[in-house]
Amino acid sequence: MKIAILSRNPKLYSTRRLAEAARERGHEARVIDVLRCYMNITSHAPSIHYRGETLTGFDAVIPRIGASVTFYGTAVLRQFEMMNVYPLNESVAISRARDKLRSLQLLSRRGIGLPITGFAHTPDDIEDLIKMVGGAPLVIKLLEGTQGIGVVLAETRQAAESVIEAFLGLKANILVQEYIHEAKGADIRCFIIGEKVVASMRRQAKPGEFRSNLHRGGSADLIRITPEERSTAVRAAKIMGLNVAGVDILRSNHGPVVMEVNSSPGLEGIETATNKDIAGQMIDFIEKDAVAGKTRTRGKG
Ligand code: ADP
Repeated sequence: MKIAILSRNPKLYSTRRLAEAARERGHEARVIDVLRCYMNITSHAPSIHYRGETLTGFDAVIPRIGASVTFYGTAVLRQFEMMNVYPLNESVAISRARDKLRSLQLLSRRGIGLPITGFAHTPDDIEDLIKMVGGAPLVIKLLEGTQGIGVVLAETRQAAESVIEAFLGLKANILVQEYIHEAKGADIRCFIIGEKVVASMRRQAKPGEFRSNLHRGGSADLIRITPEERSTAVRAAKIMGLNVAGVDILRSNHGPVVMEVNSSPGLEGIETATNKDIAGQMIDFIEKDAVAGKTRTRGKG
């Protein structure tokens, strides 16, 4: 097969591994920088051009679209879909997953366990907002944050009020969430491929920190997940419409709660922690699943 990997940087671990795994299996793999693509969207012959060349003949596309290029990146992916190229994850599903509020609403609608969560922009009754989600301690998140930046633990009501006020001053969307104390600074990343958890790892925050992000000094190790955690993770990915996903779960007193569903989960942490060939499994899935024009939405909506 001829496989396009949409990525801004061929040197990134995940990009390199995917290209390598595809070539090992006898496929042609090409890394394409989405921002350099330009497109003709006429209906009879949609096309994508890249460095003066027309891209043709691709059987599958693996989107690895960074959060900062979601808008243009999903447009390029949609164009591939319009050209009947099979996407490992569909543009519509990626757009859904990138919108945290939308994702949590979709998951909650389908009964997935979530931490008690409130959304706000400029509420005029902060006290009531705090009461609504059960009071302090609370986690307050800037919606636009990644890698744990903009995620604050407010241990008291007064601290929660000050942090919310400060964020409101920035005119940002915020998420106010029950603090899952019993998770003890650990979360579980479940890596899903095609309705299966193919690998999972526990990320533990460093001492004195509640955020387990590896970028924040967290460490990763192997973990055996429960059947309930497994089915929660699989369902969450399915609800989002993602074939490949990283589902982040916290172990709460009221069962597994989903924090986030990531549409471009990184491979380095999970392959290192589990010693599994996850990139290879992604390519194997494409081999089985890729049929031209097979998308649920073909770029609609
Ligand atoms: P980001 O998307 O920026 O990584 P997250 O929402 O995943 O932000 O939060 C970063 C980390 O903070 C999580 O990996 C988790 O360890 C911790 N965390 C986030 N929300 C909660 C919560 N409600 N209760 C306990 N810990 C949390």
